[in-house]
Amino acid sequence: MGDSAFSFINVTDDCDDCGICVAACPKNAIDESNGYSTIDENCIFCCACIKVCPQQARSLKNGPIRDKAKWLNENCVRRKEPQTYLSCN
Ligand code: SF4
Ligand code: SF4
Repeated sequence: MGDSAFSFINVTDDCDDCGICVAACPKNAIDESNGYSTIDENCIFCCACIKVCPQQARSLKNGPIRDKAKWLNENCVRRKEPQTYLSCN
């Protein structure tokens, strides 16, 4: 991943410049000098910055990653029992 120009994180005015997201980002992909915006070409879509933000100022923009995250939350949060299928070929 990385090397992407795909912008998927929104930062709202609730940001209080605490810098926690910068410390949490494993790819140095947050620009403190530019409103804590994401440096898209460095971002690996891990969402660590969203999880740690105490102000909930970072969120997924509407788009394919938000759609996939919603799908995963709806379908993969709870453990499912294994199922066995027999093939009669
Ligand atoms: S963690 Fe949230 S409130 Fe803190 S600087 Fe980052 S975006 Fe702003
Ligand atoms: S999603 Fe991950 S890599 Fe991208 S800015 Fe946030 S913490 Fe950094």
